[in-house]
Amino acid sequence: MDIAALNSTKSLRRDVLKWMCLCFGFLSLAFGVFNLTVNNLPLLGYIEASFSIYCIYTFIALTRHPLQIWQSIVMCALISFIVVLATYLASPRNGVYVWSFALPVLYYLLVGKRYGFILSATLLAAQIIILAGKTSLSPFETFNLVLNLLCTYVSIWAISHIFEGSRSQFSKRLKNLALLDPLTGAGNRLSMSHYFEVELRDKSQLYVFLLDLDYFKLINDEHGHGVGDKVLVEVATLLRVALGRGYVFRVGGEEFALFSSFTSEEEALNAAEKIRTQVENTNFDIDGLSINITTSIGVAKFKSTNTLEGFVEQADKQLYKAKRFGRNKVYCKFKAEPDFEIATA
Ligand code: GH3
Ligand code: MG
Ligand code: MG
Repeated sequence: MDIAALNSTKSLRRDVLKWMCLCFGFLSLAFGVFNLTVNNLPLLGYIEASFSIYCIYTFIALTRHPLQIWQSIVMCALISFIVVLATYLASPRNGVYVWSFALPVLYYLLVGKRYGFILSATLLAAQIIILAGKTSLSPFETFNLVLNLLCTYVSIWAISHIFEGSRSQFSKRLKNLALLDPLTGAGNRLSMSHYFEVELRDKSQLYVFLLDLDYFKLINDEHGHGVGDKVLVEVATLLRVALGRGYVFRVGGEEFALFSSFTSEEEALNAAEKIRTQVENTNFDIDGLSINITTSIGVAKFKSTNTLEGFVEQADKQLYKAKRFGRNKVYCKFKAEPDFEIATA
């Protein structure tokens, strides 16, 4: 499965910005020419013409490269500046302030709920101050104008806020459904391969610990599958806390793969041993039962020629030995040395 399909927010923002740049590129050019030639607002005209060039440039950049967050921020800042300046310079009878109504939607789509809220509030305050200060209208006309602006703007703002809130929540939930194991909340195999192939850039000091709980079937047989499930949840939490810096993935029924970087082989082995002893010494309190369990661990160090499968397979071979030679052990083989067992329970 292509994980990029789950990054719907990024692709939505890119599409919105790209097509918005194309539209505003031409619109702003037309307004710029109009303000320079007919409206006699040269400052606004030159700014709009420059903005139009920036929009077309950004449109071309976005057809070739991924979206950068600063592009969304710059676009929000520029368009807000132009709308506020136009409202300030032009007579309210021109109706240029009407453009304000489009901006909350754009803010929320381009920079999300938090910054969308801040920008929408700031723009509304600026526009009300500017329009309230217009002397070309009678106080009654000004009052009417500000009241209408306020009501319409707040309606659009509220809808944008609710829409973006539920859209981003839905997108997050979808991502969690696809990438997290529903029982333990640890990453699944798909997120493990995404983490390894895409997110993790520096693998030079990377280690994997492959864990398999010992005699786990007995827990299910003695206490039932429900208790077994709860033990798995507790073990996953313990692993996350014990590992600290790094990632925990559930790669099988009661098998976990832990990825982390260490400065030396010794440090990696100490960490694996610490995890083994923590599992061994924990009394899992499940439904009034005190359950003890142990784990076997195979450790491997990343080699530059390793694929993810090859890397995990190295650890799996060591895990197999840890099981074969008694369980509740950590096994590793870093070089062409004999297999190294660091702990015997
Ligand atoms: P060992 O690994 O030490 O050889 O013994 P084991 O009993 O743990 O054997 P194995 O790893 O082969 O068996 C795994 C057991 O884990 C089998 C299955 O009943 C149980 N299991 C797998 N997935 C789940 C799960 O999601 N929930 C529960 N409760 N049990 C599971
Ligand atoms: Mg197993
Ligand atoms: Mg097992």
